[in-house]
This record gives sequence, C-alpha cells and structure tokens, in this order.
Amino acid sequence: MEPRRFRVQNVTIIGHGPAGLTAAIYAARAGLAPLVLSSSAELGQLDQTTDVENFPGFPVGIMGPEIIVNMHKQAERFGAEFKTAHVSAVEGDGPYTLKTDDGDINTKTIIIATGAKPRRLGLESEALYWGHGVSACAVCDGFFYRGREVLVVGGGDSACEEATFLTKFASKVTLIHRRDSLRASKVMADRAIANEKIDIQWNSVLKEVIGNKDDGVTGVVLEDSNTGETRELPMDGVFLAIGHIPNTSPFKDLIDLDEEGYVILEEGSTKTSAKGVFAAGDLHDKVYRQAITAAGFGCMSALDAEKYIEGQH
Ligand code: NAP
Repeated sequence: MEPRRFRVQNVTIIGHGPAGLTAAIYAARAGLAPLVLSSSAELGQLDQTTDVENFPGFPVGIMGPEIIVNMHKQAERFGAEFKTAHVSAVEGDGPYTLKTDDGDINTKTIIIATGAKPRRLGLESEALYWGHGVSACAVCDGFFYRGREVLVVGGGDSACEEATFLTKFASKVTLIHRRDSLRASKVMADRAIANEKIDIQWNSVLKEVIGNKDDGVTGVVLEDSNTGETRELPMDGVFLAIGHIPNTSPFKDLIDLDEEGYVILEEGSTKTSAKGVFAAGDLHDKVYRQAITAAGFGCMSALDAEKYIEGQH
C-alpha cells in the first residue's frame, strides 16, 4: 500500500499585517510559495486605522486597510496562497504541524507575525469612537490634533512618551492615571511632569467618551478613583497608552516568551528558540511598534526562513 502523502509547506506565515504580508512578498519572490494564514476573528491594527500618513511612498497618505489590500495583492502576484484559519497550537519540532480550526497544516518553517493588540478599557463608548477620535497610537494620529485638546490614559513610559509627543500638535494634553504616582521611568516621567502643556490628573479613570457622528469625540467623563466623583471635560481626542498584549498564546509551548508574552529573538535576527520558527513585528517589538518597522522585520524573517530551508538541503 502507498504511504499516505502529506503536503508540507515550505513557509507558513501566521498573520496578515504588514509583517506577515511583507514576509509573504519576499518568500513568494524567492519561489517558496508561502501560505499565509489569517484569523477571521480579529482585524490587525492597520486594518482598524483610518489615514496613515507616515508609511513611506504615499505622499498624500493612504488608508490603513488599503495598505493591507495592496500588500496582499502584491504577495499573491508572486504566488503566495492565503487561507482563513485560526492557529490554536503547534506540534512537532521541525517540520511542524499547525493545529487550526480548518484542519492541520504541515510546514518546514513558520513565520509568526500575529502582532499585538493595544489594551483597551472595555468601555462601550471607547469601541464606538475607536479610529474616530479614540486611538492607541500618538505617532499615527497625533498630527490630526493640531491646536486641539487631547486626553492620554496611562501611567507608564508609553503614556508619558505619547503625552510628550502630542504636545507638538495639541494645544493641551491631559494625562490621567488611575493612581497617584507614575509607573514610567524617572526620565520619561520627569519630562512629562515638566512639560507645561501637560496637565496630569491623578487618581482619575476614564468612564465614558462623549461625542457624536459628525464631530467624533467632544468630551470625556472622568471618575476620581478615591471618591467615585465624576466630572466632565471637553476633549477632541483620546489616546490610550495602557499597554499592549502580544498575540502569542498559541505559541507559548513552542518558543521562548518573556514574562509579558513577547517573543524573545536571537539578537540581530528573527530566529526564535525553535529551529525554523521565526517571528516578525509587534509581537516581539515593544519599542517601535510601527507598520514600517513591522514590514522591515517581515522582510528579515522571510530571508531568515529562506536561508534555513537552503541549509536543510
Ligand atoms: P506599562 O508599563 O505596562 O504601563 C501601562 C500603564 O497603564 C500603567 O501605568 C498602568 O497602571 C496603566 N493601566 C493598565 N491597565 C489599565 C486600566 N485598565 N485602566 C487604567 N490604567 C491602566 O505599558 P507601556 O507604558 O506601554 O510600556 C510597556 C513596556 O515598553 C515597558 O517596559 C516600557 O518601559 C517600554 N517602553 C519603553 C519606551 C521607551 O523606552 N522609549 C517607550 C514606551 C514603552 P498601573 O501603573 O496602575 O499599573
């Protein structure tokens, strides 16, 4: 009897953001016919963004979802295949079997590019105005608030950095933190505290974002975390900086993650602790977190995967 034959992919890329799709373009052009998996349950960060004005090559800006569609088409043109499937676990030690909600996929190499999601407060009004006045990326959206008032939520390095960055554009930045001292490093905290355009309101929690369809965000309701008293402030935009959650839980038994769940890479490469498994994008990068840096890591991961496959022959 003939042995049952399994198809084994050269490269399976998990993730449909700038990292995964750039990896797909490079791997496809290298003749590796990559398979790109995306989960239908969640959109990537760029897919949820409106105008993107800092992605090089688009002098008048481009919509976030359009970048994704363009990258997808570019990868498809060179032979990348796409499939909607959610990966729940990975078995084996090379080649690997991806366990998905649409069956098993066998692959020689894996590029994990599942990104990270900004932590949200879970308010109904936050979801309603997400991308329309509520954002988690000051570098992406700060420019739209020239001469306007914005709120930053959080007390870590990101909150201080984003608040400081936003003072370049906004007339006033209100930074609220749920406690009475910042978690941020001293240098970042001192810089934010010394900035005259930043008003820090301690022991304050965002309870509601106020707005309407035409104007977007127009105000916020804050609650004093000690007394429970609420107050309303006029506001043009809200920036959340309460941390990110890397989308790495299906890979926790496969590769080394740090205590926050970020992938640990071999220095100077996209290699993870498992042979033939690479990672690219916001799931290992806590510092830059930009579409263009994710795309750069995606390129590196495809080149690393190509080299690994060549080394196997
Ligand atoms: P973080 O350090 O985890 O800080 C998150 C902040 O959000 C904390 O102050 C936390 O409050 C607050 N928070 C969390 N959940 C909240 C909720 N539900 N409601 C209200 N507040 C909430 O995250 P991060 O600032 O994004 O930094 C992540 C890592 O990246 C850190 O290691 C940081 O040093 C690094 N980073 C470095 C740079 C840089 O060096 N340039 C810039 C940005 C980030 P509590 O303090 O009360 O817990």
